[in-house]
Order: sequence, then C-alpha cells, then structure tokens
Amino acid sequence: MTVTQRINQIRQQIPSYVRLVAITKQVSVEAMREAYAAGVRDFGENRLQEALLKQKQLQDLPDICWHFIGHLQANKAKKILEHFHWIHSVDDRAIAQRLNRLAAELPNPPQVFLQVKVLPDPNKYGWQIPELLAAIPELEQYHHLKIQGLMTILPLGLSDEQILVAFESTRELAQTIEQKSKLSMEQLSMGMSDDYLLAIEAGATTIRLGRIIFGERIS
Ligand SMILES: *Cc1c(COP(=O)(O)O)cnc(C)c1O
Repeated sequence: MTVTQRINQIRQQIPSYVRLVAITKQVSVEAMREAYAAGVRDFGENRLQEALLKQKQLQDLPDICWHFIGHLQANKAKKILEHFHWIHSVDDRAIAQRLNRLAAELPNPPQVFLQVKVLPDPNKYGWQIPELLAAIPELEQYHHLKIQGLMTILPLGLSDEQILVAFESTRELAQTIEQKSKLSMEQLSMGMSDDYLLAIEAGATTIRLGRIIFGERIS
C-alpha cells in the first residue's frame, strides 16, 4: 500500500474530530509531500535539527502545523518554541518553568501537552502522577505556557485490556486536574500505530502515527 492509501484507510477508521499527527522522524521529505497531498497537515518530529531541515525543504507548504514530540533539552527550548506550533513533551517542572519564561518573549508561542507516565516506565520521560498533581499550583502561574492537556506513551508489552485501562486513567487524570485547577485539559494526545483505536475509544483527541503510515523505521 502507498502512503496515500494508508492515510485514507486510517481516516475511515477514526472520527473527524481526531487530529492525526503524522510522525515523520527518519521519514523523507518526499514521503511527507505524499502525506501532505493526501490531506495531512500535522507533522511530528522528535529531533530539532532534522525538523529544521525539513521545515526549510517544505517551506513551499506554509499551512503545515509542526508538532515537537521528543524530549526537550533545555538549551534547545527557545528554538523549539520558535519553530513548532505544538509541543507534546513538557515532561518536568524545570522545562515547564523555562518554557514559560521563554514563551513570554514570543508573539505566538506554541500550545503544549504535559507528558505524563500513568504506568511506571524507566525508559521514558514524563511526570509521575503525584509529581504532576503537586505541581499544579505552579503550573497555574505559568500564564505564557498554553497548556491544553495531557500526552502519554505507554510501556511496551501490555494487553489490549491494560492499554485501554491506562488510556482511560489518563483521561480521568485530565478530568481530575480540570476540576481541581484552572488548567485547561481539553486535549488528549495518546495513541500510536499499535494502539490508536484503543486511545480513541478512551477519549484521545490527537493521535501520533508513524510506522502505520510510512512503514518501519530503520532503527
Ligand atoms: C515515534 C513516536 C510516535 C509514533 O510511533 P509509531 O509507533 O511509529 O506510530 C508517537 N509518539 C512519539 C512520542 C514518538 O516518539
């Protein structure tokens, strides 16, 4: 199947309110152009340098919405704020504070997700739930940080049942935060190639798909 066919097939499976972000790390700009021609406008990258190069190569497509999904290194935070419309990976206090400070100087800072670990996973970044709840008063003061909701990545090796429960608990956590605070938790970024249908069932509003559109990555 071609990229176009895969995108059309996915579109038929998902409700129209779900934002499909095509994850294009290690994907060629040619394949990205094909996805664009098939109607995709949201692209996600996890490395700044690779993304900046592709943004340059695709600057004739001005209506692309760029999503940063990788771990944010403090020294790259400013550039990432300047070059992306969404950041999915605000994963601790220090980076949230820094982004808020830097965003104050920008006319149009990106919208952000707080990346949370609803299950323990030593290989991933993200807030632990108690940590996140404790940080709410601080996050409420970050008026330049346009928090829209939670993002999560689940550990590998879960059953469908466990995946669904984990995604549902992410949605419930967002609801709890919304009730306890002034933070907006309207958006939920969850679901990748292997679990996006379960994520949508649990309330995802944004899904992040790589391999199922573009095929397996090399590494
Ligand atoms: C790579 C990546 C994805 C896409 O994963 P696939 O399994 O290729 O769909 C989604 N989210 C994040 C944060 C990623 O790093």
